[in-house]
Amino acid sequence: MSAAIKPLNMDEFMAGVVKRNPGETEFHQAVEEVAGSVIPYINENPVFIENRILERMTEPDRTIIFRVCWEDDEGNVRTNRGYRVQFNNSIGPYKGGLRFHHSVNLSILKFLGFEQTFKNSLTTLPMGSGKGGADFNPKGKSEREIMRFCQAFMTELSKHIGADVDVPAGDIGVGAREISYMFGQYKRLKNEFTGTLTGKSLEFGGSLIRKEATGYGCAYFMEEMLKHKGDSIKGKNCLVSGSGNVAQFCAQKLMHLGGKVLTLSDSSGFIYDPEGLNDEKLEYIIDLKTNRRGRISEYAEKYKAEFHAGKRPWAIKADLAFPCATQNELELSDAEELIKNGCKAVAEGANMPTTIEAVEALHKANIVFSPGKASNAGGVSVSGLEMTQNSIRLSWAREELEERLKTIMHDIHKQCVDYGTEKNRVDYVKGANIAGFVKVAKAMVAYGVI
Ligand code: NDP
Repeated sequence: MSAAIKPLNMDEFMAGVVKRNPGETEFHQAVEEVAGSVIPYINENPVFIENRILERMTEPDRTIIFRVCWEDDEGNVRTNRGYRVQFNNSIGPYKGGLRFHHSVNLSILKFLGFEQTFKNSLTTLPMGSGKGGADFNPKGKSEREIMRFCQAFMTELSKHIGADVDVPAGDIGVGAREISYMFGQYKRLKNEFTGTLTGKSLEFGGSLIRKEATGYGCAYFMEEMLKHKGDSIKGKNCLVSGSGNVAQFCAQKLMHLGGKVLTLSDSSGFIYDPEGLNDEKLEYIIDLKTNRRGRISEYAEKYKAEFHAGKRPWAIKADLAFPCATQNELELSDAEELIKNGCKAVAEGANMPTTIEAVEALHKANIVFSPGKASNAGGVSVSGLEMTQNSIRLSWAREELEERLKTIMHDIHKQCVDYGTEKNRVDYVKGANIAGFVKVAKAMVAYGVI
């Protein structure tokens, strides 16, 4: 390294991030997790220091914040805050989900958008990164209220997105119903039919297996990690948290690969079914959470399983763990329970569900751990395939899409192994961060200072 180029220092770099983004704790956490593994790599490749790539990557291209006004069923005017963080479009149009949840704020969306940069790069598809949403709580709202909110939200968002510009998808609180309302409004405002949102229904440009993709991909990724160690999911006891889109289909694929799913959860607690889920029980969960929007405790009543109010499932003895609900739901004390109970591997289905301290503890205990940007990338991958199908105005068959999803998860695993292997052990955090970084960083260097 030339004397003029000063190596990046982790503490100084993070101090700068914290100073520029005061109070954004989730965003700081996401940057810290990435910086810890990419700074040593950057210091070995000074072109990335010279071009200040990490500083530039931690600053979104732009952030749009807007007022969303709508009328509830009683005729009251309601006001929410809408966001779209267009993080980085170096390798493709901005791409990432929309979250409707009362906890949504700029810090959470910046953490999610930043993570998306690396995840989308890992998928091998041409997708940049973004994230958006609103502090709107869909729980307890009527169909018409949801529709009016989605239309009001899209009225502003439509000015900033487009099939070659920014292609949002769903996330927490945004499923097929919300995507349909938003796509309908976009179509009405723009008078065009393009693939500007993904996660659409099959009748109007959606892709087969999109709804299964994140959960299936997570199970496939775990299978890849175990295969790399000469093992498999078959016969393993599995803990899954959440009971939404990701958790449901992660559980389904785990069962089909021979695993036994013992738990699911929601924001009120978790269920423990020692007999394990089966297809019929899972159908009940899908209907309960997706159609009836009920509580997970109803499962415990119906199937005589245990319900643990206000708790998370990590203290139950099992071989594999899949946090699939939300950020920071697996903390140090939870990791210690998993370690004590002989857990072999953890694959994140949610985004950043494991705290930095918990990841460190799992690594120290030699437990195989994959970060969400690798193991939950199946969802955005099939979204990318939905964009491709929309562009060529064709729909691929389920088998073809599932094969492509499997290949993508295999390729992501390979990139993690290539960049993360040290002394016969794979550090998936390091591997995913560096592999995701390299492609975007090279594109940014090629563009010059923009
Ligand atoms: P859903 O809205 O379908 O489900 C979310 C689940 O998490 C629900 O069971 C919900 O419980 C639970 N949950 C939400 N907040 C909390 C909380 N504070 N404590 C405990 N449980 C909570 O969302 P998804 O399944 O789509 O998303 C789950 C995670 O996966 C998120 O981190 C998301 O960003 C990530 N992800 C999703 C992708 C996708 O394709 N959908 C793609 C990649 C990542 P309740 O019913 O009580 O609200």
